[in-house]
This record gives sequence, structure tokens and C-alpha cells, in this order.
Amino acid sequence: MKIQPTKKTKFIFITGGVLSSLGKGLAAAAIGSLLESRGMTVTFQKLDPYINVDPGTMNPFQHGEVYVTDDGAETDLDMGHYERYTNAVMAQINNYTSGRIYYSVIMKERRGEYLGGTVQVIPHITDEIKRAVLQLDGTVDVAIIEIGGTIGDIEGLPFVEAIRQLRGDLGREYTLFIHLTLVPYIKTAGEVKTKPTQHSVKELLASGIQPDILMCRTEVPLNADLKKKIALFCNVEPESVITAIDVDSIYEVPLRLHEEGVDDRILEKLGIWTGAPHIRPWQELVHRIKNPKHTVTIGITGKYVDLKESYKSLHEALVHGGIANEARVELKYISADELESGGGIEQLEECDGILVPGGFGSRGTEGKIRAITHARENRVPFFGICLGMQLAVVEFARNIAKMEGAHSTELDPATPFPVIYLMKEWFDFRTGKTEVRDENSDMGGTLRLGAYPCRLVPDTLAARAYGQEEISERHRHRYEFNNEFRERLEEAGLVVSGTSPDKTLVEIVELGDHPWFLGCQFHPEFKSKPMKPHPLFRDFIRAALEARQAGKGGA
Ligand code: GLN
Repeated sequence: MKIQPTKKTKFIFITGGVLSSLGKGLAAAAIGSLLESRGMTVTFQKLDPYINVDPGTMNPFQHGEVYVTDDGAETDLDMGHYERYTNAVMAQINNYTSGRIYYSVIMKERRGEYLGGTVQVIPHITDEIKRAVLQLDGTVDVAIIEIGGTIGDIEGLPFVEAIRQLRGDLGREYTLFIHLTLVPYIKTAGEVKTKPTQHSVKELLASGIQPDILMCRTEVPLNADLKKKIALFCNVEPESVITAIDVDSIYEVPLRLHEEGVDDRILEKLGIWTGAPHIRPWQELVHRIKNPKHTVTIGITGKYVDLKESYKSLHEALVHGGIANEARVELKYISADELESGGGIEQLEECDGILVPGGFGSRGTEGKIRAITHARENRVPFFGICLGMQLAVVEFARNIAKMEGAHSTELDPATPFPVIYLMKEWFDFRTGKTEVRDENSDMGGTLRLGAYPCRLVPDTLAARAYGQEEISERHRHRYEFNNEFRERLEEAGLVVSGTSPDKTLVEIVELGDHPWFLGCQFHPEFKSKPMKPHPLFRDFIRAALEARQAGKGGA
């Protein structure tokens, strides 16, 4: 494959060794933030070795949350870290899986584009990977490419081979290899072990890649002797062995890595000259996080109570809401199944605010509705997101508007009051086309995905939170508010505070006579950043804080 580098963008490739879950995504995001703080523009790409074409169909239990971008890509949750730590905007081109790469090669083969040649992993798959990476060439100063999985995995080999080739294609001054490994601390011996790192680097070397910088995840700081030892065995300079120490808050990572000099090393190796980094905002942020003035307890009632990765962005957005209010947010995951079988109310009573997040499928539905009833009746601040908004509408319809058996047709197709339903025809602002679908349509193709505009109604919680008339938020759902029941629900007191600009899609609902009760059809958590907490999360946490203080003072 012929490559004509733009000579504008430098590429950092991050691989991981020893074992998974070392926080490569966070490390990549933190490095991006440090480079931005030195005035560079950055972007990211995650190359995932699994065969699914995208994570859209994957179970959040297994893979963590599906992160949605403005352009409607269903991506790996690391995209969320990238966007939260930097100004980079992620899109379809920032996340590739083996499946997507193979899919496009196979389509080309079927179209006869390989002119009868034998289609092989090298060069056809590797070329396709290189093409994916090189889409970023010329768009920013530095592109940070993260290879998913662990070095040594069979399925990751084509990616490793592609980045090896890219060093040759682009040249040393345009490419940098960072390898993240684990240096475990063995309690009984009272010392850390470097052997896994040595083996992992050996494995990388076998693929033709000599790492330039090693980032070592560890519980205890690595002293100069240890760094020297790792440097010697792994053929890097001692200054290029970076301690990536465990931290209390993930937002400390940029600061810790900066103290270790990772940004200096990167710039030096890539031959980039910049001024001193502007890391004050990160220092202030961490100071705020570590010295909260208040504490607030938020109950989350969802299906995936066991796995925090499934609600990654949500969790972070709540933390951000806390930062905006100088509060530490304690999350209490309350099982919807438990609520459904009659238990768990005392757990709800301990919460200053209740949130029902997005979800698919019927498990725990009645439990979630019970949590909503509890919040509505006891004037506990409530935030419903996507499915949580839909169920808030169902709860209101059943208990206030007296529509017995009201439901979403996703969960009860035979309901007499389908207040949430599958819109058979709707105008898609993003594509400019009218979409048509029914219950039998292909699951993947019928979701409303990505950013949509929403117009807010003045003097509502939503309008006050955002302080503007038109907003844009990201969606990932199939079902919608049914306008057939809108008048009746509004007459009963439901406030529709946000709709699509043409008013056909209800995007936000509220309750008038409640301190803070809001449900939104979109996923605001995808747009919250620690430096810019999302207005709805900020106000929800503030309301919960006020409820807590009122409860304490007034009782
Ligand atoms: N299951 C609901 C729908 O498809 C909600 C989806 C969600 O919460 N993301 O509309």
C-alpha cells in the first residue's frame, strides 16, 4: 500500500501487556489531556480485536457500556474517556473492530476490487487497518491510537503488525510506541516483580515492536533502581520507564503521569517543541474532588447493578454533578429485581435522589416503576434517563392519569394505553429522511442514534438548567413517547419541557408540583465532562443536596 504521510500528525500507539483492564483507555485519555494542556490538538482511535462489527449488540455485562457519539456511532466505552479528558470529538472513524475491518475487506473482495488476487491477512487486512488509522493523518497534531486487548492475543496480531508497518511508513519522528504493563506487588515477599513486564516486552519484540516508553501500573512507586532494572531488561532508557501508580480518583491520572514526566518524554521523542503545560485546571479539579464540602447519596435502580462498567458514563456524570456542587456523590445501586419482589424500599429511603437509567428489556420493570412512585410521592429528586424517562411516563399514566395498565409496547405489546410505542414513521433530522419501521424491522437498524436537536420550553427545570433554548443531545433507543396520549397526560399534570424542533418527538418530561422530577429521552451522561459538568446532572445533584439538607434541618 502506498502511503503519502501529511507530515503534520504524529502517531502514538498504545499497547497493553500482562493482563487486561490495566486502564489503557484512561492512560491514553490522560496523555491526550497533557498534550492538549501544552497547546497541541489531539484525537484518538481505538482498535478493538473482537469480531463484532461494533459493540452495539454486545451485552453490557460483558463489555461495559456502549458509548454513543454525536454522529451516532455505537462505540467502546474508552471513547467516553477520550471525550471526557479532552476536546476531541469522537465519531465513527475513531473506533474500529476486527469485524469492521474484515467486513470491509470482504465487501471489497465481493465487489471484485482485489482483481482476482488471493486476499490475505497480510497485506489486505493490515492495509485496511492502516487505512483506518491514516484517516486521522493531517487532522491534528497528535493522534493517539489504542490497541485493545493484550499483547500475545491471537486476534490482536493484525493490528500489531499494522502499527509495526506504520513506523516504517511514517518514520521514527512520526511514530511512538507506548506499552502499558503491570508491575505487581507481592505482599508476602514485600517487593514488586518486574518479570511479567519483561515477558510482555519480549512478546512485543517478537512482533517487531520495540517500545519507546513503558508505563508500569503499580501499587507502590518504582524507585530508580527498579526503573533501571526494567530499562535494562526491556531495552528502554530509565527515564522512559514511567510509574503509573494507582490513584483514588481517575482524574488524578494526568497529574501523576505529568509528575513522572511522561509528556516531556513523548515530546522529546517525537521532536515536538511546546511551552510548559497548563495543568492548573487539573490541579484545581482534583483539589475540588478531594475536598468536598458535602455528601449526597444517589440511588440507581437498574438491571446491571453488579457491574459499574455498564454505567460508566452515568457514573462519571454523577461525579461531575457532585464536582459542580462541591459534593461527594455516593452511589447506591438498588436492584430493580429486589424492588420488584417487594423488598428494597428501606434502601430507597436512604437516598437523597433517585435515578433510573437507560436499559433494554423487561427485567425489573415493575421494580423501577416502584422506585419512581416512591420518588414522586415522597418528593425525592428524580432523574429518569431514556428507559427511565419512558417508565416515568408509564408511572404517571397509570397512577395519576388513571390509565390502568399503561405501558411501553416494548414491555407489554398488548397494553390498553401504549404511552410509549414504536413510531412507525418519523422524520430523521440527521439524515433528512423519513424512517419507516415496524416490530419486525431489523433490531440494529431501527434505533434512533446520535445527536438530535431539542427545543426547550421556557420556565421549566430543563430550560433553567441549560440556560438556552435549543440543545443537542445523544440518543440510543427505539421507542418514543406516544403523542396520542399527550393531551391527556398534560391535562393530568405532566409537563413536556423539551421536544424536537418540529414538536413531533417528546424529549423531556417533568412534574410541575415536585422539587425536581425530570425524565429525558436522550442520554445526557455522554456529554458530561469533569471540567464541564452537564447541566442536568448539576441540577439533579443540587436538588438532592437540598433535599438532604432540608431533611436534616426540618426533621
Ligand atoms: N429500551 C428503550 C427503547 O428502546 C430504552 C432504551 C434506552 O434506555 N437506551 O426505547
